[in-house]
Amino acid sequence: MNIETHIRSILEEIEPSQERLKDTPARVAQSYGEFFSGYNIDISQVANKFYDSSMDDLVILKNIQFESHCEHHFVPIIGIASIGYVPNKKIIGASKLARIVDIFAHRLQLQERMTIDIGRVLESVLDAKGVGVYIEAEHFCISHRGVKKTGSKLITRYFCGILKNDQHLRKEFLDSVFTKN
Ligand SMILES: [Zn+2]
Repeated sequence: MNIETHIRSILEEIEPSQERLKDTPARVAQSYGEFFSGYNIDISQVANKFYDSSMDDLVILKNIQFESHCEHHFVPIIGIASIGYVPNKKIIGASKLARIVDIFAHRLQLQERMTIDIGRVLESVLDAKGVGVYIEAEHFCISHRGVKKTGSKLITRYFCGILKNDQHLRKEFLDSVFTKN
C-alpha cells in the first residue's frame, strides 16, 4: 500500500466519511514526499565541487535553519545548525554545507544521530583538519505533547580532528556560533 492509502485509513479512524477531506490523503502523501526526500542521495555527488585554498583558519556557516521529523513520534523538529571546519588545502561552496544539513534533515531523525552523521560526512568529503557541528532544536514531541515544555531546546555537538583536540579553537568556533550578529 502507498502512503496515500494509509493516510486514508488513519483519517477514517479520526474522522470517518468526511467528503471535505477526500483530497487530504494525496496532499499528505505529497508532503511526506517532500519531508522525507533526503534518502537515497549520494552525498559525494552533492558535495562534488571543491576549490583550492590556502585558508588555514576556521570557516563557519552558522544559523542554518532546518526542519526535520522525530523518528519516535513523527512530529517536527525545528532548529538551527552551525558548521565549522579548518580546511586542508581545499574548501567547499558554503551553500553545499547548508545542502548537506537539508539532506539529513529530510529524513526521520534523532538529533544526536543527525549531528554525528553531518560531522562524519563533512569529515570524509572535505578531508578537513577538523570539523565542528553545533545544533539546537525544538522538538514538538517535547513542546506539543507529553511534558509540553515549549521553548526548551536540545543542544548537540560534534567535533573531530583539530576541533576536538584544540580547546582554544573549539571555543572560538562556539563563540562565533553564539555571537548574535
Ligand atoms: Zn520524539
